[in-house]
Amino acid sequence: MPQDLSVINVPVRKVKVVAEADVVVAGGGAAGIAAAVSAAREGANVVLIERLGFLGGTMTAATLGGICGLYSLVDGQPAQLVFGFADEIRHLLETHGGTTGPKPWLKTASLPYDVFILKRIFDRLVDEKRITVFFHSTITHVDIEDGRIGGVAMEGPGGAFAVRGNAFIDCTGDADLCQLAGVGTEFSPEELQFPSMMFRLGGVDTSVVGRMKRERLHDYLENAVSAGFDLPRTAGGIYSVRDGVVHLNITRVSVDGRAPDPFDPKSSTRAEIAGREQVEFYLEAFRQFVPGFDKAYVLDTGCEIGVRESRRLAGQYVMTSDDIYSERKFADAIAVNCWPVEEHGVGRGTNWGWLSPGGYCHIPYRSLLPRGADNLLVAGRCLSADHVAQASLRVTANCFAMGQAAGIAAAMAADGSVGDVAVSALQDSLTSRGAVLAP
Ligand SMILES: Cc1cc2nc3c(=O)[nH]c(=O)nc-3n(C[C@H](O)[C@H](O)[C@H](O)COP(=O)(O)OP(=O)(O)OC[C@H]3O[C@@H](n4cnc5c(N)ncnc54)[C@H](O)[C@@H]3O)c2cc1C
Repeated sequence: MPQDLSVINVPVRKVKVVAEADVVVAGGGAAGIAAAVSAAREGANVVLIERLGFLGGTMTAATLGGICGLYSLVDGQPAQLVFGFADEIRHLLETHGGTTGPKPWLKTASLPYDVFILKRIFDRLVDEKRITVFFHSTITHVDIEDGRIGGVAMEGPGGAFAVRGNAFIDCTGDADLCQLAGVGTEFSPEELQFPSMMFRLGGVDTSVVGRMKRERLHDYLENAVSAGFDLPRTAGGIYSVRDGVVHLNITRVSVDGRAPDPFDPKSSTRAEIAGREQVEFYLEAFRQFVPGFDKAYVLDTGCEIGVRESRRLAGQYVMTSDDIYSERKFADAIAVNCWPVEEHGVGRGTNWGWLSPGGYCHIPYRSLLPRGADNLLVAGRCLSADHVAQASLRVTANCFAMGQAAGIAAAMAADGSVGDVAVSALQDSLTSRGAVLAP
């Protein structure tokens, strides 16, 4: 038979198990760190598996200017509504000089942070005997035994290895574990939010920039557009935690006029290059049109483009836009969300859908539970939500909160079913760990 040159055969392999754990956490972003630390604090032995060489995910890889979702804006002042693990991170940033405090903007507020200080905070949080971290390890296989996940296999720098566990938490942002386990997910390439290449500029007069309202920045960049700069976005965020240096969330990257497909290697490669190219355009536009930037230069970009949305769990409860806008409360609440809908769709602006001042909705436990998987939980931006609800729920304070709940629930489930966890006991445990479910 002639060889089929359109495929290559990958041989079936036996992969050595190098660790066993009560709880295996896939992905070390905001949700994964919170899940791993919270499960360990409940007495579970934990393995945390991360594709990159540091923790933080989008927070430290794409890099963000600030933590969103901690605060609502009430009478012009930030009012903190999300506590628990997210508040612990806020406190640690303050203690280590990694933030300048909450910054109000538009009808909300966020907490700027220093990326390196945050990475070191995460390193220290997982430096405890119950947590084993594997960096540079990408999960590529899920082993299903009698309808339960028995283990995961990953590719590391020295080849493949495996980990066995009782309970698993998918914090990959992309719902990779769900996909590999054959659990239902949603992925809608036609309505994906656009990604951004984040960057930092040095040589900036931050005394001028510190006084600049977001609306003024928008005006300056619209002037650049009128003068012929082809900027895809003119509304965005500037944060500064160091004199002379700003972090910018202002690019909008498309491939062939659409949001790039994060699972298509050609599309995502073009997106990375297009993102860096855009940074050059923005640098020139800022130098020419925005006060305080005439001597600016690019310090760095994120180590990868920031993907806002990819696969979402199709779980036992799918959160909807109506849940967000009606500020719906749930009996099985595990977290509080006060962030507006922030949708990065087509056009040069961002579509905002505001909650009331001091208002919030709950995130129910069921939106972390897949259908038909006994020992798998999901936390973070790939939770079970529709496109619009995810555009609100995905921010980092919420990912910390979901991760904390998933970590405690996984430890409580031990070798039973995550669906059988007593929600009132989970809520009690969350409250005893500082979370506030009715602020
Ligand atoms: C451009 C952009 C700007 C944003 N701005 C803000 C902002 O200012 N403030 C805010 O609060 N939020 C912001 N967000 C939202 C927020 O950053 C993310 O939604 C949130 O950080 C997601 O956290 P997570 O833990 O769910 O997932 P992620 O941060 O995506 O973490 C997932 C982790 O899993 C790892 N991983 C993935 N697949 C595998 C695998 N197969 N094996 C092993 N490891 C794997 C990844 O390397 C990553 O570290 C922004 C997002 C983007 C993209």
